[in-house]
Amino acid sequence: MNAPLDSTQRQALRAELLKRREALLGTLALHQGDASRVQHAREILLQDGDDGPQRDADREVDLAFTDHERHELAEIGAALQRLDSDDYGVCSDCGADIPFARLQVQPQALRCVTCESSQESRRGGVPHALM
Ligand SMILES: [Zn+2]
Repeated sequence: MNAPLDSTQRQALRAELLKRREALLGTLALHQGDASRVQHAREILLQDGDDGPQRDADREVDLAFTDHERHELAEIGAALQRLDSDDYGVCSDCGADIPFARLQVQPQALRCVTCESSQESRRGGVPHALM
């Protein structure tokens, strides 16, 4: 039993989305700035070591993290575009209103909790970074 979003709630969610976008952009810039520096530092530190596999694993974690952030940034951008339309806050699968409480936690959510969890089980629990 959820009511459609009123304008105050939309405003709060817009502020939240903008805040998250700023934070993500900051994090992305940080990563990109760090990536070459950190890698360079590792290469110097590990020059004489035999840590090849570990180094590759670290790099993959860095890449996956950045991909995740990029993905989230795209979702937030799409949510900001949807925010003024009737599509926002409505489950894309079943058409139910997504509860405001859920949107506060995840303002870019496309689906209600029920559809989201069945979507995730259809994916077979494969971590998103591997898709
Ligand atoms: Zn749904």
